[in-house]
Amino acid sequence: MKTIQQQLLDLTLHLQASGLNEGSSGNCSIRDRDGFYITPSGLNPKAMSIDDMVFMDFKGTIQSSQKPPREPSSEWRFHHDILKTRKDANVVIHTHSTFATTLSLFRKDIPAFHYMIAIAGGNSIRCTKYELFGTQALSDEALIALNERKACLLANHGMIVIGRDIEDALNISHEVERLCEQYTYALQMGSPTILTDKEMGEVTERFKSYGNWKKP
Ligand SMILES: [Zn+2]
Repeated sequence: MKTIQQQLLDLTLHLQASGLNEGSSGNCSIRDRDGFYITPSGLNPKAMSIDDMVFMDFKGTIQSSQKPPREPSSEWRFHHDILKTRKDANVVIHTHSTFATTLSLFRKDIPAFHYMIAIAGGNSIRCTKYELFGTQALSDEALIALNERKACLLANHGMIVIGRDIEDALNISHEVERLCEQYTYALQMGSPTILTDKEMGEVTERFKSYGNWKKP
């Protein structure tokens, strides 16, 4: 069994290799005991080792095994607040992926243009109000947009995805980025037809019967 630090390193390397993140942008965290491990601030994943992963508990106490100690990602506040309040989430992924970020520039929710929107837990993927990166205000907005959802856009910034485990969070991250790509192309051609609440209700019922999908 890999340590949580190794799982987190593998996850951040995957996010970079798959193109969801580039350079030192984006970050991720995994719940452990009474807190979580989070990727460090300002390091490219390729330059990270498992000893660079930072532990933070829900009182905000930070532990780093490096000397000098690593700082947690500048976005630690929303990782902390999500994992503290969302008991259904054990993994948080934040990306500046191209299409999620493109749509976030419009500061609008993504409607149910495709039934797979339900993978994020509802009939839309919400977008937050704009707030400065790294602030408590951004974290507060993210929690609102993630209410009963597993993904949201951050205005003029990127996206956050939460999952019950790494596989779940990665699956949703890739799907949301793909949905954002499809919706971006659709908007070039006009206004796509949006599924009705009744049609999306049928999707949600069908999804509930899939073993690998649980409503948050
Ligand atoms: Zn960011």
